[in-house]
Amino acid sequence: MKPSLYLAVWGERMSGVTFSRNRVKLKKLLGIRARLAMLAVLLVAPLMLDRVRSLEDARAKQIATASEEYANITHHSAETQREVISSVETMLKSAAYIRASSGIARSCEILRASLPANLPWIRSIMLVSKDGVVQCSTLNAQVGLNIADREYFRKAQETRDFVFSDYLFGKTNNRPIMMAAYPVAAINPEEDSVAVAGINLDWLSKIMANLGGRPGISSVLIDSTGVVLAAPPDQASMIGRPLDNVPLLSAITYKALSSNTDTGSISFAATDSKRTISFARIPGTQARLIVSVDEDIVTAAINRDIRTAYLQLAFVCLFVLLGALIGAEKLIINPIEVMTGMAKRFGEGDSSARVSRSRLPSEFMPLARAFNAMAAQLSQRERELVATNDRLTVMASIDMLSGLANRRGFQSRLEFEWLKAQQFTSELSLLMIDVDYFKLYNDTYGHPEGDACLTRIGEALARIAGETMGFAGRYGGEEFCLLLPNTSAQKALEVGETVRMKVQGLALPHITSSYGMVTVSVGVAATLPSDTQTPGELIEAADAALYAAKHRGRNTVVEHGFAKLADKTGMAMAG
Ligand code: GH3
Ligand code: MG
Ligand code: MG
Repeated sequence: MKPSLYLAVWGERMSGVTFSRNRVKLKKLLGIRARLAMLAVLLVAPLMLDRVRSLEDARAKQIATASEEYANITHHSAETQREVISSVETMLKSAAYIRASSGIARSCEILRASLPANLPWIRSIMLVSKDGVVQCSTLNAQVGLNIADREYFRKAQETRDFVFSDYLFGKTNNRPIMMAAYPVAAINPEEDSVAVAGINLDWLSKIMANLGGRPGISSVLIDSTGVVLAAPPDQASMIGRPLDNVPLLSAITYKALSSNTDTGSISFAATDSKRTISFARIPGTQARLIVSVDEDIVTAAINRDIRTAYLQLAFVCLFVLLGALIGAEKLIINPIEVMTGMAKRFGEGDSSARVSRSRLPSEFMPLARAFNAMAAQLSQRERELVATNDRLTVMASIDMLSGLANRRGFQSRLEFEWLKAQQFTSELSLLMIDVDYFKLYNDTYGHPEGDACLTRIGEALARIAGETMGFAGRYGGEEFCLLLPNTSAQKALEVGETVRMKVQGLALPHITSSYGMVTVSVGVAATLPSDTQTPGELIEAADAALYAAKHRGRNTVVEHGFAKLADKTGMAMAG
């Protein structure tokens, strides 16, 4: 393998290892609740994103529609203003024609008679002499005024063309007005007078009424210097004021006036909000109509809608999350806790612990059934084990050959009887029984025959134990014992004698014994059990008595002086 290729493969393997390690970490970190919550969010997120996107789209569309609508209105309004202006122009031109073709007196007569009532924005029409004196007017008060100082007047004379004034105050009543002038010389160079019209600014404002009353929209008609000529009723206070002084609109003025185009629209960010302005020049004049749209205010409604929608989304998400968590808690976590609790109780030894299936969702039923079946089987096994154990315990304390208790069984019975005797202050006697010359018996008849002999003696002892309310056992080898509760030494001696006789009565032949048959020697010991003695001492005493019986020639019963001597020496040799 090339080194680079080898490295690439190695790197890939390493990244695989890190990845799976990270996954293990993630698994440890995220419980069922967190994973379900994540799943819920994953499910809701695309819907949320889609809703957010459509809301944002709607906002953008609304802004675009508003801007377009106001650009149209601006254009339309400017068009109407233009009609006003052109009607003024027509009127002035016809006045000039009249003057050009008639004398001043005749012209004045025609003029006064001809001002049509359907042009209410024309306040007055007058004929002004070359040096600025009003010779005649449709308004009598104006006759004799001198307007030579007005710029529009001089300009009309100079340019020999139609001229509109900026914002002015009327000379007779000091009211805001806009003037238009047209020199008669434009028609007849011989004539030097000028036809002049006063334009009622209120009417210009009235035409703009459709632009007013809308929040976030400002619309004004400005003259060449930026003074407001007309505005909708709600913005009437701006009329006559230079727009420059109004901070927000001054920027608009600048843009509109410095722009070479007659109409247009500009979007720009003012200090406090984003504005779109549309402007249009009224043809033939320096006046401009300006409509400014404050996007923040226009979009306030949709922004409110969007905020509500976001809030709704947040609530939906919250509910979905809560639903997922509660669902997880009720449907998964709780059942798991119920099952865990049962398993724990069971583990602590409460074998009756079972899962109540009514509390679990159906998906957990198979698990619950399996658990309950396992629990039932385990407790059944435990019962069997206990029984087997009991049987083993019993078997462990029984001698199979004689059918009597073995040494272990005998020992525990002795301890029990000892305590009982101590409790009731009753006497307890013990017989140690040993078969005489048994080695010889084995040698003579063989081991199996020896075993059979021991079985016969065991049966005889069992019978005697039953009659005397005693407890017989095989102490070891060919040595037996008989425990006699509530029995005095005297009575025990009698039972010992019975044992010796019964064995002899079995008449089991034993030719190598001096007695010619199987016999036993019996050692007897009796005591009133007390705290100063032990059961072991009773056995030792009985053993000593047995030793004495052997010594005396076998096939005999000897009693140990244990009970009588116990107080003095605790133990004594058999007498
Ligand atoms: P004594 O009269 O002094 O008691 O003499 P003894 O031969 O009976 O005593 P000893 O202790 O010398 O021998 C006991 C014999 O018992 C030795 C052993 O072979 C025999 N024996 C012990 N247990 C069993 C058994 O379970 N089956 C058989 N067949 N023989 C046993
Ligand atoms: Mg023996
Ligand atoms: Mg023996």
